[in-house]
Parts: sequence; structure tokens; C-alpha cells
Amino acid sequence: MTRPEPPADQSLASIESRMRDAGEWLQLEDGVIENLIAPRRVLEVSIPVRLDDGTRVRFTGWRVLHNITRGPGKGGIRYHPSVSRDETVSLAAAMSLKTALMNLPLGGAKGGVALDPKLLSMRELERVTRRYVSEIFGFLGPDKDVPAPDVGTNAQVMAWVMDQYSIGIGHAVPGVVTGKPLALGGSLGRDSATGRGVVEAALLVCQANGTSLEGKRIVIQGFGNVGMWAARLAAGWGARIVGISDVGGVIASEKGIDIDALVHATQRGVGSVVDAGIGEVIARGIERSTDVFGLPSDIAMPCALGGAVDVREAGLMTAKYVIEGANGPLTPGADAVLNERGVIIVPDIFANAGGVTCSYLEQCQNFAHLQWDEDEVNASVVATMRAAFKRLHEFSTENHLTYRAAASVLGVKALADAHHLRGLHP
Ligand code: NAD
Repeated sequence: MTRPEPPADQSLASIESRMRDAGEWLQLEDGVIENLIAPRRVLEVSIPVRLDDGTRVRFTGWRVLHNITRGPGKGGIRYHPSVSRDETVSLAAAMSLKTALMNLPLGGAKGGVALDPKLLSMRELERVTRRYVSEIFGFLGPDKDVPAPDVGTNAQVMAWVMDQYSIGIGHAVPGVVTGKPLALGGSLGRDSATGRGVVEAALLVCQANGTSLEGKRIVIQGFGNVGMWAARLAAGWGARIVGISDVGGVIASEKGIDIDALVHATQRGVGSVVDAGIGEVIARGIERSTDVFGLPSDIAMPCALGGAVDVREAGLMTAKYVIEGANGPLTPGADAVLNERGVIIVPDIFANAGGVTCSYLEQCQNFAHLQWDEDEVNASVVATMRAAFKRLHEFSTENHLTYRAAASVLGVKALADAHHLRGLHP
């Protein structure tokens, strides 16, 4: 049984209300914030596909362009059964705030198809992807809207996106998508970039509070792209990963889970962390995966899906710092409980921005027909995270705002300033 995501309109209502609060704080002129909240374009498309057994099915997909004032739309493509219009709009709005907060010359977008990729063969997934891209073809492009991987999609899916788009244009267009395989103009360092940013966020917030990551006990929900890299890199800084959960359940080890062995086991095809034979299995089943937050810890990193931490999980949590690796992992109720307790929350639009930062660097390499070495890419991701954290920390301290409120205000301010400078047509 899949743990349901929160009702999609909850995450949409929550980001809209955060933007409204930021607009009020900034005392924006009437009408400006509503203009910033509304997506520029919402495409809903039907995706008819022939399955391998010859039967025809139809999926529904979306591509939302939220804000393009500061640059082309940027945002992932998600394949998950819970994908909906409202969820896609809310994730696109978060991308607008994220690129603005990080000072990247990009806008915000998001896409997705409501399906379970695990139930489709590779050939079926390829057909879905190609048909989805052809339905939104006219709205994509390196200067218009540039997708990337998200939950349920990967570099192979991005390769099909690039191919389908390039066929339509008539020549190879690597810059239409990021998170591509290296052989097609992908960037070194892209795989690890989001997890690297999550760990950098943890390092920075520890430093700002006069401490370090060394010896800190960390619990992580999700052992996919983000959670796995966050675990690996945090362990490299001397942190102890005392609990990890995924759809299969929770594993724990007081002295620290052997992350290299876990990565090795999961990459060899073990389905879930609970089947890897590493650490102690303390819970089985997706509905128990949030038990990981009840383990004694200093830092919690929710790196799975939106809405994973609700009031119940917030009540269980012992961590002093929460670093939001996933998009929207805390419900507004959980956020309130944790704020009340003085827990320091590093919000998603900063904490997981290493991914979009590296995607931007991938586009720069594509435009310049260059490939940078991995150290250069990683250093640039880290430098961008550090510069953004400096702005975020100073602004939050000076104005007595939580990091989440400060991040929303800085993001909305960058968008509002850009709108103001460009003016309103006609
Ligand atoms: P992924 O599909 O690679 O991994 C997701 C992981 O979460 C898997 O280990 C899965 O088992 C686990 N999971 C899913 N539902 C769960 C549940 N209910 N309980 C426990 N575990 C669960 O996805 P990802 O790319 O690692 O993305 C994770 C989150 O990070 C998403 O919210 C995504 O939008 C966000 N994000 C990803 C990137 C990126 O570059 N991949 C960038 C920014 C934000």
C-alpha cells in the first residue's frame, strides 16, 4: 500500500500562502503578488500509448510554466501515480522561488505524468516519454522551458526527451534538457549535485550555529538519488547515519550504517534498504517508513516525497535540524510543531537547490560546447550554495525570520524586482 501524498491542493495552498505572506512582508503593490502566484501556462495533455501486449491505455500529463521573467522555465518531469495538476503547479511555483533565491538566470516550471513507472517496461516508458514530449513539443526549448529528472525519471528518460525534441527540430539540441547521460552532453557531478547541496546546507547551518557535522547523528528518509548521495557525502564528513528508510521500511544502527556497503547492495539490485542485510531492520512496510524520524538523532533529512512529515512525525522527531532534501516534505502542521519546539528547518527551496544549480551549469556547458571536469562542477555547486546561504542567513537574522520565511521573501523579492524592471505589457 502506498502512503498517500497529502492532498495536492494542500501543497499548492501552502506555497501560495507562503508567497502571499512574503508579498505582505515586502508590502508589494496591490495585484503584484497574485500575478506572481498565478502560473503563466498550464498544459494538460492526453498520452495514448500502446502497451507491449498490444492493448491501448491513456495517461494524463502536465507541463506547467510558472514564471519566466528571469529566464527560461526550469523544472523536472515526475512519473508517479499521485501526479496531478495542482501538485505540478505547486512544484513549478517552488522552482520559480528556488531559481530566484539561488540567483540563477532561470524561471520555474514542472511536469509530470500520472503513472507508476515500476509497472511499465522500458519500451512502454520510452513510448510514454516520446508521446508526452511530442504533445508539449512547441513549448519546450533551451530558451523556453528546460526539463530535468525528478521522482520516477532518470538520465535515460532525459535522453529520450532530448532525442524526441531533436527529431522535431532537425538537429541535436542537448540544451533542451538537463540530467542527460554524459554521452549526450550531460554534466559530470549532476548525479550527486542535489545530495551534495543537501549536505552543504547541513554543514552551513551547523557552522552558523557554532558546530560541525562531525559525529552528528543523521536520519534520512528516502534512499534514491537525493537520499543516497546525502548519506554518502555526510558520512564522508564524519557524520553517523543512524537511520535510513525507503518504501520497504527502516534500517538503523546506533554506531552508524555502513553507507558504502548499503550503496553497493542496493546498486546490485536489492529492492529496498531493508533487504540489504545491513544495520538492524526496525520496521517493514511503506506505512512505517516515517518511524525513522523517531530514532534519536541530531539532524533529519527527509529526502523522499512531499508531505512525508506531518504532525505525528514532527511529534516523534528528536532532531534539532531538519534539512529538506525532498520538495515540500513538511506539512504546514509539522512546520508549526517543529518551529514551536525551536527546531531549525532549512527549507527545500534552498536545501535541495544543488540539483538545479548543477542543471544550470549543464546548460552553460551545452551552450559553450564544453565539458567541465567534475571538481570544477562540484566546486561551483558548493560556491553557489554558500553564497545563497550567506544571503539567506543574514536576511533571516537581521529580520528575525525563520529560514523558510526568509527564503520565500528573498525569492518573491527577486521575482517582483524583475517584473518591476521589465514592466507590464501592454
Ligand atoms: P528517487 O525516485 O530517486 O528516490 C525516492 C526515494 O524515496 C526512494 O528511495 C523511495 O523508496 C523513497 N520513498 C518514496 N516514497 C516513500 C515513502 N512514502 N516513504 C519512504 N520512502 C519513500 O527520487 P529523488 O530524485 O531522490 O527525489 C526525492 C525528492 O527530492 C523528491 O521530492 C524530489 O522532487 C526532490 N528533488 C530531487 C532532485 C534531484 O535532483 N533528483 C532535485 C531537487 C529535489
